[in-house]
This record gives sequence, C-alpha cells and structure tokens, in this order.
Amino acid sequence: MKFLGKLVGELLFPPRCAGCGKLMHPDPTSAEQALCASCRKLWERELRCQCPTCFLEYCTCRCVPSSMKKQGIEQYVKLAPYSDEENATVTRRIVLGIKDHTRMRTLRFLAAELAVTVEAAIASSERVRQKNGCKESLETVVAYLPRSKRGVRRTGVDQARELARALAAETGYRFVPLLKRVRDGVPQKSLSRSERAMNLRGAFERVADAANYRVLLVDDVVTTGAGMSQCARVLQAAEIIAVSVAFTEKKHTK
Ligand SMILES: [Zn+2]
Ligand SMILES: [Zn+2]
Repeated sequence: MKFLGKLVGELLFPPRCAGCGKLMHPDPTSAEQALCASCRKLWERELRCQCPTCFLEYCTCRCVPSSMKKQGIEQYVKLAPYSDEENATVTRRIVLGIKDHTRMRTLRFLAAELAVTVEAAIASSERVRQKNGCKESLETVVAYLPRSKRGVRRTGVDQARELARALAAETGYRFVPLLKRVRDGVPQKSLSRSERAMNLRGAFERVADAANYRVLLVDDVVTTGAGMSQCARVLQAAEIIAVSVAFTEKKHTK
C-alpha cells in the first residue's frame, strides 16, 4: 500500500534530476534516480575534493573546524564543499533542491551517501570508548539544527529536519528532536563570522536530556559552524558527531 502510494506520487510528480531538473524514469525504489548520469558524474567529482588537513576526500574526512571542536564536537561528517555562486556545483543545486516538492527522493539519496561515513565515525568512536575502558556502547540518536521561523516560512520546509529524518530511516537510529529554536536572530547571510556567532547566542534550547546519547547533529549546509557550535554547547550530550551535506570555508568579510 505504501509502495502504491509512493508510485502514484511519483506519477503525479514525475521525478526530476536534483542536479539539472531533467525528467527521469519513475522508479520509486531507486536512490540513484536522484541524479541523472551526467550530474552523477559531476557529483562524484565534487565528492573527490581533498581535505587539506587529513588529505582524505571530503566524503570520508571527519575533521572538525576548531570553533566546533571547542564545543565538544568530536567528528564532522560531510560530503562536498559548497559554493554560493549561481549553478557553481551539483552540490549547491542538490542542497537547494531539498527545499522543493521533489525532495523525498533527493533526501533518501543524500542520507544513503552520508550513512557510510556516519557508520565509520560511530565505529571509530566506539573503538576509542572501549580503549578507555567503557564497557557499554552509547545509544546513537539523530537530531537536527532547527531553522529559523523566517527560513521555514520562506521555503515551507525545515530541510535540516527532513534530512535528519531521512538519515534516521537510512541508518535505523532513533530520530529525537533534541533542540528547538527560540529566537530567529537577523539573517545569518548578512553577517561576518564573529557576528554570526553572536547572532545565534541563545537562539537554541534543549528540549530533552541528551547526556546519555551520542548525537548525530544534522544540518544541510555548514558555513562558519556557528550554528553547530551553539547547538553543541546547548545539547550537553555525551558525544556529538556533526553531519552535513555540504560546507563552505569561505571567509566572511563584510
Ligand atoms: Zn542531471
Ligand atoms: Zn580532513
């Protein structure tokens, strides 16, 4: 029945490539169908960009920017770098695409791509715990960084929430919305790096105890890491692994 519903949905809204918008064959079971063959090739090239710190490809690197590390984030899983320039990369078009009605297919695709590195990050954290004499493994849950009300109003969706739910479905970990947004602040886009951090201070509140959890903290794009840092500070979780589709390291000079 669920399958049938999906099928009808795909027929009403025929799937389009998340990279170029081209119509694609309606096969509701295929995650690969999020991208057409030529966008898939470009996407894979973007995934192969190399992290200057660990020399691994970004899609396997787990390096944490120092501002996020300071707040206790131990590993950071990401897929590809992000640029704000119009049509610059498939990554950018995919990220923009998870805000429209074709997003379910794209979200499933991204969750599957992220799951591989997420599992590796969890395994490595468990190895460290065992080495330090912890006998029991930590329960992993999936939470997300709530978007501002203004942002949700604009696009009609909190894409970080949707991505977190897709990741929970893909990995089998529990989706637990641990945070809520209590203040919008001014739009982050207009601010410098230090102003962004100030703007988000007090913007998030913890709604449930996270002390016994390893939290997969999900956002769609990480720009300066100010949001991730604020949320990590508020969460007070046993452990945090940050997860995002894309990230940008561009300097914010106003
Ligand atoms: Zn395409
Ligand atoms: Zn790295």
